[in-house]
Amino acid sequence: MTEDCIFCKIVAGTIPATTIYEDNDVIVFNDINPMAKVHFLIVPKQHIESLNSCEEADQALLGKMLLLAPKLATEQGLKGFKTLINTGRDGGQEVFHIHVHVFGGGEPNT
Ligand code: 5GP
Ligand code: ZN
Repeated sequence: MTEDCIFCKIVAGTIPATTIYEDNDVIVFNDINPMAKVHFLIVPKQHIESLNSCEEADQALLGKMLLLAPKLATEQGLKGFKTLINTGRDGGQEVFHIHVHVFGGGEPNT
């Protein structure tokens, strides 16, 4: 766990989140500020800052995260969805613990 990382705190259970899937490698929870009716984040339990800091050793983990997207999107009732990985401050990344956004289903009900 990396101190002061919000997603490490969610992994550790010290900050609550609405978790929709969890295994030894990843946790998946709903985005606190959804861009669509369904919007969840696929997050590795290991602290990796961004795609910029990924290495060949992370290949299987990255593949696992991507393969979870259609599985969980279907479970959440989506027939199609968008994926997004913001990388670096200039790429719009706000939380520096790598994550895949998965969203769809139209505008959120807010
Ligand atoms: P980024 O811009 O880094 O790709 O996206 C970070 C995402 O994390 C944003 O969509 C934001 O709403 C979400 N987020 C930030 N803090 C929290 C939190 O404490 N809990 C949850 N569930 N989502 C968060
Ligand atoms: Zn972290």
